[in-house]
Amino acid sequence: MELSPNVAAMKPSATLAVSALAKRLEAQGRDIINLSTGEPDFDTPGWISDAAMQGIRDGRTRYTPTPGLPELRAAIARFLSRGDRVVDPAGIVVSSGAKQALFNACFSLFGPGDEVIVATPYWTSYPEMVGLARATSVFAAGSEENDFRLSPEDLERVATPATKGLLFSSPCNPTGVVYGADELRAVAEWARDRGIWLISDEIYRHIYFGEGGEAPGLLDLPATSVGPHVLINGASKSFAMTGWRVGFSATTPELAKTMQGVQSHITSNAATPSQMAALAAYSDVGRTREDVARMREAFRRRRDLVMRLFDERLPNLSYLRPEGAFYLFFRVDSAFGDGRDSASAVCSWLLEEVGVAVVPGEAFGEPRYARMSFATSDAVLDDAIRRMATLLG
Ligand code: PLP
Repeated sequence: MELSPNVAAMKPSATLAVSALAKRLEAQGRDIINLSTGEPDFDTPGWISDAAMQGIRDGRTRYTPTPGLPELRAAIARFLSRGDRVVDPAGIVVSSGAKQALFNACFSLFGPGDEVIVATPYWTSYPEMVGLARATSVFAAGSEENDFRLSPEDLERVATPATKGLLFSSPCNPTGVVYGADELRAVAEWARDRGIWLISDEIYRHIYFGEGGEAPGLLDLPATSVGPHVLINGASKSFAMTGWRVGFSATTPELAKTMQGVQSHITSNAATPSQMAALAAYSDVGRTREDVARMREAFRRRRDLVMRLFDERLPNLSYLRPEGAFYLFFRVDSAFGDGRDSASAVCSWLLEEVGVAVVPGEAFGEPRYARMSFATSDAVLDDAIRRMATLLG
């Protein structure tokens, strides 16, 4: 079958592929521990779900304006605003997940001939979205000693006159690494000076184990440090709402209009009952923060547990210390050999031999590493790392 060049280079999501294989083996009766998926193991807080159900009962079941309910856009703008950084609701577009917000941004800003710097290790969908816009990804990694965080010097090395954007996440999926405020400011000012669009994916901002529980974000920087940008966030990870599909972008009202135009031809508005749930979450901020703090505390405790178990049982596997999100990114190249010469081969071996599913680093542009989620119970983490140690310890 001859397909369009639009999808010629597209690869299916590697994280979903591992997860599908794990589910298939499970369906065959195998005892599988699946640490490959990227979602909190908590249920959505009940009062947020109730708001959606009440909305349905009240007949909030029709289309909304494409960029979202006006009251939700206003609540999100208030949620984002900090001191003198007042966010304009006209710049907010509510989407079917942060994924769509990212796609809207890439598709609106980039096209053939454009280069987009993708901070590596990257979230698996970034290069695919750049490719769907027919632009070219240029991969840039900071030094491993600096946990791959990019500096202006790293960016300068890969920038060309065709560079149109820079795409990155902090806290980072897959590494959990967080840019400090000064590091973020240096990157933002570099992009500003070069007139490059900065797409800052802050979907894990509230799952941060440092001071204050919120990772530094673009809106914490002085307004003069930030040039053209799109901020991405959403309800999925922070509020345990992955299945509701509510994300958003925040940018200039002008670009927001174009992005909502793209969305209007693809999915229209995010599901209306889901917007009602998000409206409750972004409006009753005090209550939301309590729930977020509870989940963050659990993630922090599990982060500490996983690091301790790795140190005890897998002392030859080094890892990056996660300061946010809920992933441990660890090196597996010490297990190369015996016909296994890639993270994919090591991960397949782990899955086949001991039934532990983790995602090979190839999915994130770093083939010496693998990513495991620690968004699961202590007992499961303990069992998984015990099994891994029988092969890799
Ligand atoms: N950005 C990053 C870094 C992610 O890890 C994910 C989900 O895995 C997303 C965006 C997409 O989030 P959503 O589920 O809201 O589409």
